[in-house]
Amino acid sequence: MSHRYALFLKAVCVALIMALGPLVTANVVLNNFAEHRARSDLQATTQQYISRAETVLNDAVALLRHLANRGISSCAMDSRRQFGKMLVANGKYVQIGVADAQGFPMCLVPERPLIGVPILPKLETVSPRIAISLAPQIDQGVRSALVSWRLSDDRRLFVQLSPAVMELGAGAHYLAKDSRIELALSGQELWVEKGRLQISKGASVPLPSQSTRNMSDTLIEQLDSGFYPLSVTVTTSRNAVNALVAELKVVAAIACAIGAIVMVGIGIWFAWRPASEAEDEFVKAIKNDEFIPYYQPVIDIFSGELKGCEVLMRWRQADGSMVPPGQFMTYAEASGHIFEMTRRMMRLVASEVADLYSSNPDLKLSINLFAGHFKDDKILKDVLEVFEPSKIELSQVVLEVTERQPLEDIDLARKLIASFQARNIRVALDDVGTGHGGLAYLQKLGMDILKIDKMFIDPMGSDDNTAGIVDIIVELGDNLGMGIIAEGVENYNQILYLRNLGVTSAQGYVFSRPIPASEFIQYARDIETGIMNPIKHLDEKYAPESAGNKDAEQGAA
Ligand code: C2E
Ligand code: CA
Ligand code: CA
Repeated sequence: MSHRYALFLKAVCVALIMALGPLVTANVVLNNFAEHRARSDLQATTQQYISRAETVLNDAVALLRHLANRGISSCAMDSRRQFGKMLVANGKYVQIGVADAQGFPMCLVPERPLIGVPILPKLETVSPRIAISLAPQIDQGVRSALVSWRLSDDRRLFVQLSPAVMELGAGAHYLAKDSRIELALSGQELWVEKGRLQISKGASVPLPSQSTRNMSDTLIEQLDSGFYPLSVTVTTSRNAVNALVAELKVVAAIACAIGAIVMVGIGIWFAWRPASEAEDEFVKAIKNDEFIPYYQPVIDIFSGELKGCEVLMRWRQADGSMVPPGQFMTYAEASGHIFEMTRRMMRLVASEVADLYSSNPDLKLSINLFAGHFKDDKILKDVLEVFEPSKIELSQVVLEVTERQPLEDIDLARKLIASFQARNIRVALDDVGTGHGGLAYLQKLGMDILKIDKMFIDPMGSDDNTAGIVDIIVELGDNLGMGIIAEGVENYNQILYLRNLGVTSAQGYVFSRPIPASEFIQYARDIETGIMNPIKHLDEKYAPESAGNKDAEQGAA
């Protein structure tokens, strides 16, 4: 997956999380708000109904007490006249009358024929002084309540309340169309029954005092009277509750969708914007094959024979200027461009020096890799893809792994190295002694070749005792049966020192700098044909007769 594509996917994921998070939160917050608001509206409705019922009942009781205390409690003309006055003065009552212990009316005001039907429940022996009952007629969901006062002779004075006294609204308008209000007298039918909401029978059974019951699709509030056996229950559907915030939810969803689109847009822009002019220039340079191989010969310091070369990358810019890897390699590796650059460079190598290598099967060709190449086996595929079809044998290929950067997964690196070796590809540990791995790498990774860094070659032949390190590295390499190549050899003294240690292979400016393919091929041909012998030429120059020769000392210095 390309770096940009991964960045894009990451941006989309972040955008979705950042958009969905607020959406879910907004929904939860709005639902909570709606429920909270609906509950307080329902509670207000229950309070309203209970208060009204208590007030009208209190008034009726006060009236009855007043009449009874004054003896205005019989069917005599006087009493009935007083009843009539009370009715006129109080629009709340539809009739006042006297009933016997069985509940049959003895007289009614306004006057009506007594048809022999009980108007009050039969008196029980323990009946309270004040009783409330309901008349059978219903007017728009409200029954007529009867409040009676038990007289000493078990007759009862009663008033019948107008249904209109309980004509109250159905609560908050957004709930009203989808709710139900039930005012119940305990043990009797409903006094008030309002609202269109259909609820199961069970739900309309009076609920325990002051409780709040939740059902998944309804919201219920219930309140009992503190004075009378009265209970009001208001039920509303969740749909009605949610309707309160439905519009806000749409607004929140739109805002979150816009947020998500903006975030994805920013993500796309970040992922595909030209990272920088330098990045664009770099990518263009890769496509134009501006990163080319240079070749530094590796020489047998005893015979002067050519052993092979190290391939070193150069950036040949469009204007012809040559940029060394020190100036671009860190970026190439950090950005991941190095993978493509290595692939392309290997292809160029395979085409440039194929003939030279096929006619000299002992020549080795070293390619530099970096730690990132050892994170998976893509590099194995790349190397095989380039060299298997080429005239360069896999056995001529050496892969250099630097010790300067740590290998993240040593086990994987070990397996990869073993896979190379199984195909006769050799692996060299570069810059030994300068980096992270040290002895551990040598032991664990099973390398074939060890390259001594220029840093340890430089002080050779001088008094600086770091030269002793080379002795140790060489001994170690020998013990492990590894080939050894000295790097950065710049003078004849170093050659003498290396010879003394038994090191045979070296590369360095003393023989040649890294050179383009044509020059390297010429260099190789000159050695092959005997026109030039890089070591003989040095031996003759600095030690024509013996070591310690004055010229040689001067040349070596
Ligand atoms: P390296 O692999 O240690 O390569 C040896 C470096 O020492 C090369 O530098 C070479 O030009 C330089 N050198 C060789 N002999 C002498 C000498 O006698 N005197 C002096 N002063 N220098 C000498 P170069 O070509 O600049 O490469 C620097 C580093 O860049 C390499 O160090 C290697 O780590 C990296 N590099 C070069 N090409 C590639 C590549 O294709 N892929 C990767 N991943 N890294 C590369
Ligand atoms: Ca190298
Ligand atoms: Ca090196």
